[in-house]
Amino acid sequence: MLSVDDYRNSVLEGIGVLSPIELPLSSAHGCVLAADVASPWPLPSFDNSSMDGYAVIAADLTSATGERPVELTVIDDVPAGFRSTEVVTAGSAIRIMTGAPMPAGADAVVPVERTDGGTQTVQVTGSVERGAHVRRAGEDVVAGELVLPKGTLIGARQVAILAAVGCGLVFVHPRPRVAVISTGSELVEPGLPLRHGLISDSNSYLLVAAAKEAGADAYRVGPIVDDETLFLRTVEDQIHRCDLILTSGGVSMGAHDTVKTVLSALGSVTFTKVAMNPGMPQGHGFVGEERVPIITLPGNPVSSYISFENFVRPAIRLMRGLPDLLRPQMTAVCGAALTSPFGKRQFARARFLASGVVLPTGTGQGSHVMGGLASAEALIVIPEEVTGVEAGQTVSVIDLRTR
Ligand code: AMP
Ligand code: MG
Repeated sequence: MLSVDDYRNSVLEGIGVLSPIELPLSSAHGCVLAADVASPWPLPSFDNSSMDGYAVIAADLTSATGERPVELTVIDDVPAGFRSTEVVTAGSAIRIMTGAPMPAGADAVVPVERTDGGTQTVQVTGSVERGAHVRRAGEDVVAGELVLPKGTLIGARQVAILAAVGCGLVFVHPRPRVAVISTGSELVEPGLPLRHGLISDSNSYLLVAAAKEAGADAYRVGPIVDDETLFLRTVEDQIHRCDLILTSGGVSMGAHDTVKTVLSALGSVTFTKVAMNPGMPQGHGFVGEERVPIITLPGNPVSSYISFENFVRPAIRLMRGLPDLLRPQMTAVCGAALTSPFGKRQFARARFLASGVVLPTGTGQGSHVMGGLASAEALIVIPEEVTGVEAGQTVSVIDLRTR
């Protein structure tokens, strides 16, 4: 049996960062930048008003008070998106809105709150410093400045600056396209009636959702019945459409374990037992001339999920170009006793009772216990050589709420 870490390393070997492509900014969210981005222009790109008010000459207003306002002649009105052709001279002002370019001659903006809001003439009830309420060109970013380095994960705040510097096409490592094929003659599309012995296909939904949460563009194929020809055809059909194929089911020791039978025959996919609980039977390799990576996950839903966390999520993050492949582990106090098989690393589903305190979820740690999986927020990691944890003992925990 391989250790979890050795098996993960063998899955990740031969998987690389996806080649960069140019994507429209609207599709770049969640991708990793493949090149530095510099701003072609300064930000702000022109001096502009930071307030709704009046562009003035500050020296005109030194004596202005509430009792003795100073009156100025309003010679123009400039909303954001327009530029005034007038010049502010002594005794005059231009009404200006936030973001509008500063007119020539003016050296400050009086906020509208400090005036009577007039449109022909304006009574100003207080003085302003030179430069007040003016956002200077280049005070945020100067022309040519690096705004985002290569390797940056593009989130909402990064999308904003890319837009601000006019980056309509972004050179990124794309999100991996992940096809999820679930196999099993007992599987029925959720929502359809179940005859005796049939179950809803939950894994493909689970894996697609988990892959999306890991930053992939994932989609379902199937479920398909346990038929060797159909399975091979389905895999071949996906080779040209995706960057990673995931299968669920059919990899253990059963008589109808189609995935294992078909893929073993190709020679490029290997099946092995991993010293973990749940999720012992695993397989991975490459298919087609394109050598598309394939990871075959066990069918029991909890096994499938734990395997995804341990092997697929890191693979997706590697393809995306992210440096941290694993979620951070922390310690917590375990609120109840747990047993664990000797020689296997156990991943027990748990929720947080308080920060730093976890309690196992569900009716035991069986690989079919989906209720416990659904209420889990964390995985308690019990090392290979440990066979039990007492209530109150400190354990290692993976917080599944982290991204
Ligand atoms: P297998 O690995 O194909 O032997 O499946 C192991 C167990 O997981 C069996 O009880 C299956 O019915 C169940 N199972 C397999 N695939 C799925 C699926 N897509 N959704 C829910 N349960 C599944
Ligand atoms: Mg099966």
